[in-house]
Amino acid sequence: MSVNILTVENLHFCYNSSEVISDISFSVSRGDYIGLVGPNGSGKTTLIKIILGLLKPYRGILTLFGDDSKIFSQWNRIGYLPQMVSSMNPRFPATVREVVAMGLLSGKGFPKYLNRADRMAIDRALELLDIRQLKKTPIGELSGGQQQRVLVARAIVNCPEFIILDEPTAALDPETRDRFFALLRNINRERQVTIIMVTHDIGNIGQYASKLLYIDKKIIFYGSFGDFCISSEITQFFGEYAQHVICHRHNSASDYNPLRNHGTY
Ligand code: ADP
Repeated sequence: MSVNILTVENLHFCYNSSEVISDISFSVSRGDYIGLVGPNGSGKTTLIKIILGLLKPYRGILTLFGDDSKIFSQWNRIGYLPQMVSSMNPRFPATVREVVAMGLLSGKGFPKYLNRADRMAIDRALELLDIRQLKKTPIGELSGGQQQRVLVARAIVNCPEFIILDEPTAALDPETRDRFFALLRNINRERQVTIIMVTHDIGNIGQYASKLLYIDKKIIFYGSFGDFCISSEITQFFGEYAQHVICHRHNSASDYNPLRNHGTY
């Protein structure tokens, strides 16, 4: 039986008087890995901020882990990786280990201190991201890709059930990006961690994610990449070529032969 993680019903949001989220409804089950995609300014970051409780919806109901009233008490169950605008100040005064530790300290009361289990959790997160050897390095001295791994380690160190990432691959080169997508897929499959990832990598996300949520203020498509591949509405919206680049159900978009039956791929 699928466990419900998030339900969004008839959500509306306005900045000043301009509506940027219009009647959005969808639900997320445990273990879903959702690519959240849409043009610039389509409301992706706004939607994420509403899910995280950072913005209050103008209208609509949002239920997280089955409870619509206690979003702030659910923080320790969510790992959040915000957009990385640029590399950090090289003199930022914290080591990799200290930055990852912040992911545990934020969930503790006062006084905040790390116990043995916390130290082991930090080591496990560093190992998973393959950055254990950088533990004592100041984060500002790392490359953009390495810094990104540190921030992912911070987001997952408390073993969240639900990870939300906002364009995590924007600062990564293609090889690091592919490794990053594969790593998240492993976390998703092996630990049943639910993931929503905002991405511009619309041509690659279909290799890794299980569902696509395409918005442009309202929902254009929400479902599996298989359903996206055979949807005639999507063909009308995107055109056949773009539809099959995105669906990633063919070896390459050039393999797609419009004369063949969609369902046979
Ligand atoms: P996306 O993440 O898809 O690029 P955003 O959610 O950031 O889209 O923005 C959606 C729309 O809301 C855009 O038109 C953007 O200019 C506008 N917007 C975003 N943040 C603010 C804000 N703080 N004040 C006013 N308008 C905003």
